[in-house]
Amino acid sequence: MIGQPLKLAAAFMLSFTPLMAPAADQIPNTLLDRAEAHQPDYLRTLEQLVSIDSGTGQEEGIAKVQTILVDRLEALGADVSVTSASPSVGSNIIGTIKGTGKAKFLLMVHYDTVFGPGTVIERPFRKDEARAYGPGVADAKGGIAMILHSLKLLKEQSFEQFGTITVLFNPDEETGSAGSKAVIADLARQHDYVFSYEPPEKEAVTVATNGINAVHLSVKGKASHAGSAPEAGRNAVMELAYQLVRLKDLGSPEKGTTVNWTIVRGGDKRNIIPASAVAEGDMRYSDLSEYDRVLSEGTKLIQKKLIPDTEVMFRIDKGRPPLVSNPGSKQLAERAQSLYSAIGRNLEPVAMRFGTDAGYAYIPGTNKPAILETMGVVGAGLHSPEEYIDLSSIAPRLYLSVSMIISLSKKELTVAE
Ligand SMILES: [Zn+2]
Repeated sequence: MIGQPLKLAAAFMLSFTPLMAPAADQIPNTLLDRAEAHQPDYLRTLEQLVSIDSGTGQEEGIAKVQTILVDRLEALGADVSVTSASPSVGSNIIGTIKGTGKAKFLLMVHYDTVFGPGTVIERPFRKDEARAYGPGVADAKGGIAMILHSLKLLKEQSFEQFGTITVLFNPDEETGSAGSKAVIADLARQHDYVFSYEPPEKEAVTVATNGINAVHLSVKGKASHAGSAPEAGRNAVMELAYQLVRLKDLGSPEKGTTVNWTIVRGGDKRNIIPASAVAEGDMRYSDLSEYDRVLSEGTKLIQKKLIPDTEVMFRIDKGRPPLVSNPGSKQLAERAQSLYSAIGRNLEPVAMRFGTDAGYAYIPGTNKPAILETMGVVGAGLHSPEEYIDLSSIAPRLYLSVSMIISLSKKELTVAE
């Protein structure tokens, strides 16, 4: 008698199994459902992170966030190493999770913000129907939470078909990543894919970013009394003004290069012909050859002077390099688009004028690693009190992040190295 109902139960289950198992095209929606279920948890993580002031260089806040991130990574099963990010305050936090497959992923974003101490008390984390607000909520604490909850979702599903997932949280992006850029470049070389979790302004992924350089112009003249012997002086401020006008068009609209003079200093006392003057400017570019062009054009232009016997110098200090438009990033964006279209959404591949740490991960002339930027949560108003994230983007972006790892683990890109 006992056997009979069991048999019946087995037959019942067998006959219903095909109906209960999700069809292949339902899998994306199942993952999206799981991502949606994670949203409250994601927001709790985000609130915890946003509620600590961690402006670049703020030792106490940076250390507090660091402790949370190390704990969270360890709880997710990562091996965690923490190394000083000198000369910056804080540490580079590196978590590693080993899988059973081949593909190696680097997921990275920064945990410093641009906001001073006391900002959290002034305008703490809050949310309304559509948005969440607070210092660094999008840039880039929303991205940190995105990484942590992507790992959590993968773990929940026992997905281990990746080779390695490495997480890097750095403390100094907002001031140029002096203490993390070498780590980023080094880690990037050891991975197949790099995802950077800066926030996109809309439903987009970023395939190219600008490089940032500082341009400098300095003039040496000769001091003299402005009232009794002006002719004995060589006015550095006047020469600087003349050169600034000569150097006003160093950018190139065709190549997307901009050069904007933003700071001038010169003169000390009203009755002294100034002996020195300097100017600084901001250069953005995405074509690597633009450094040489701007330097040689600038150097040529300053040969002609307004005031004889002044000395004029022009130089460019290299800053964050660009993520140059490349086939690897394009293919990653295509994969992302197709995964997004599986949940009925559009995703736009964009080039952006910001410079980000993705530039340090990019190796000119190769397609490895393939790099995708702005994998974070959709947000805007960065670096301002209006900064927010779009709550409706949390689940789809979480789905995107997780499904990219799953998809690339199962089927790698075909882009040549
Ligand atoms: Zn950022």
